[in-house]
Amino acid sequence: MKLILSFCITIALCLGSRPLALAQDGGASAYYMANEGVMVSDGDSKILFDPLFPESYGQYLLVPEGMKAALFAGEPPFDDVDAVFISHYHGDHFSPQEVLALMRAQPQIQVYAPTQAVIAMRSNAGDEDAALFERVNAVSLQYKDAPVSLGMNNLEVGAVRIPHSGWPNGRLDVENIVWRVTLNQSTTVVHLGDADPNDVHFTDDAAYWSSRPADMAFPPYWFFGNGDGLEILEGRIRARRSVGIHVPTTLSADPLQRPQALRGYDLFQRPGETRRIE
Ligand SMILES: [Zn+2]
Repeated sequence: MKLILSFCITIALCLGSRPLALAQDGGASAYYMANEGVMVSDGDSKILFDPLFPESYGQYLLVPEGMKAALFAGEPPFDDVDAVFISHYHGDHFSPQEVLALMRAQPQIQVYAPTQAVIAMRSNAGDEDAALFERVNAVSLQYKDAPVSLGMNNLEVGAVRIPHSGWPNGRLDVENIVWRVTLNQSTTVVHLGDADPNDVHFTDDAAYWSSRPADMAFPPYWFFGNGDGLEILEGRIRARRSVGIHVPTTLSADPLQRPQALRGYDLFQRPGETRRIE
């Protein structure tokens, strides 16, 4: 009985993730890369969060080599990427060398990143890279600073510094940026990086968060069932749907095999899987 139930749930989850061909029929969609790497597209607009990083630390997914090659070559599904967003400078989220290489290969890409990441890019750049930095948008934010608004063409971009998990005891120096991006004035997504799930980080900017409900949020999986994670997603970010990221490879794809607290939630666990954003 347990097997049958488990099989049905697996099928239901599979039906929930549609093939990319369907997802690209003009509607908005999210396409999973690895760890916290996600591509979001809406019509002609296409953005990437945390797409290039060197470290799995033995427990997170790396972007498959073939997927990475397509990204550098600008081949589908990575053709005409508009912007890349970096959550923070940790090895399982960001490679300064690879983001520089991507910018050299794809001259239309704009990069949005916290200052710590941009400093690392500058120290890895050669003299010939000077012009690249005209396409790098650095945000310099302290904890409790007001949200910053940026943007380009068809993207509205908001940045807020939310402490890295470990707050208030550790990693306080890490500039973790929660990006809220609206594509084509129609699809809003929120990528939380490695945010700490405590509502105290969201109360001061309650009006900012509630001003633009998210069609889809990408929280680290520890938002499900830890701290104020669910209240933040539902009450602050007002996410209509959330898909968890940063999922350890040891976590079963079968919800019934997961710890109780993680059974009822949608998680990205396989490179290339997609979700339609409605
Ligand atoms: Zn981190």
